[in-house]
Amino acid sequence: MSNSDPPPDRAVAQAAGWRTLMIHDLQPAFFDLPLDRYRLTFDDGLYSQYYYFPLLQHHPQPLTFFITTSLIREAPARGRFDGRYLPPQAAADYSQRAFIEGRRDDFMTTAEVLFLAGQPNVRIGAHSHFHDITLTSSHPRNPRPVSAWKLQRFAHVPAALRRGLWIRSRLAFPGHEFRNQRLVERSAGEWEGFIRHDTERCVDWFQRHLGRTPDAYCFPFNEYSAPLLAILRSYGFREFYAGSAPKDPSLIRRTEIESLLRQPTNGPRDVSAGVARRE
Ligand SMILES: [Zn+2]
Repeated sequence: MSNSDPPPDRAVAQAAGWRTLMIHDLQPAFFDLPLDRYRLTFDDGLYSQYYYFPLLQHHPQPLTFFITTSLIREAPARGRFDGRYLPPQAAADYSQRAFIEGRRDDFMTTAEVLFLAGQPNVRIGAHSHFHDITLTSSHPRNPRPVSAWKLQRFAHVPAALRRGLWIRSRLAFPGHEFRNQRLVERSAGEWEGFIRHDTERCVDWFQRHLGRTPDAYCFPFNEYSAPLLAILRSYGFREFYAGSAPKDPSLIRRTEIESLLRQPTNGPRDVSAGVARRE
């Protein structure tokens, strides 16, 4: 075991050569992939992930669903897979509905999360409470085209002020706030206060609905920083899921499932250059 002491289940999975897939909306083509060779993680708590559970329930590894607790609403459970396939949804589209239009029907309800949590091979992990974004001067390693919903989120900020700034995770970066017609950098205290507020609301949801504190965390947008990690660890999180090439070796790296559709299925390979859009 290395100095970083990965949690035991992660060490076991690594020793067995398991690699971890990152999945957002489930699409019919994914079920033709050799999914049994991978650990599966699901981001954003989408209804489609609940809907297709009957096709995944016999998977040889635990299925981990990372939920964004502000998007989970109190409502009865809907149907599960009955032979029909759902129309696929792009992350940009369901993010637009959720974060701009305030519609949460693309996401699981409390009853649906409780159903999954009661299944023998399921883990429910945290994916923040708000999944929010900020304007920041911190440059992304691999800049991608900005989704319309992210621009709309800051439509109230004059374009001249936004020039040269990126839109990234509000948890991972201090970023800038628009106040009195100016953009001002959030202080370290304000940033830390936001991380704590978000994390406490998320953990509180788990306590109220599942009666336990989560220990697995998936970073929104796969973006993280040392202050965010330190605060999350202080709340009991011990297993962190990131993108395909995190610099921090204590994080669990994941491959975008879409990248497997673009290669022969003769065995798991290292595919760090995923090009699918993730939100
Ligand atoms: Zn997400």
